[in-house]
Amino acid sequence: MTERLPDDCSEVLDHLYAFHDHELSAEEADQIRQHLMACEPCLDRFQVEDALRTLIRKCCSQARAPESLRVRVTASFSRTVIITEPE
Ligand SMILES: [Zn+2]
Repeated sequence: MTERLPDDCSEVLDHLYAFHDHELSAEEADQIRQHLMACEPCLDRFQVEDALRTLIRKCCSQARAPESLRVRVTASFSRTVIITEPE
């Protein structure tokens, strides 16, 4: 059964957080994964997200969560999203 693939990048990006947090069903996660394999911009976005999460997790596990760094990282990521947004 071929389900509707999320060809729409914005739809994929909408699910990126859930995908990252393993909150999607196996089928949904599969669709996202397939899109990421075929779509470099989305893969880029995913890897940025991935790197940030790793960074944040590392910071948080080392000491008490450095709130200022977390805010800065989150802010810079939001800025990236805005800049790369097509419209
Ligand atoms: Zn895409």
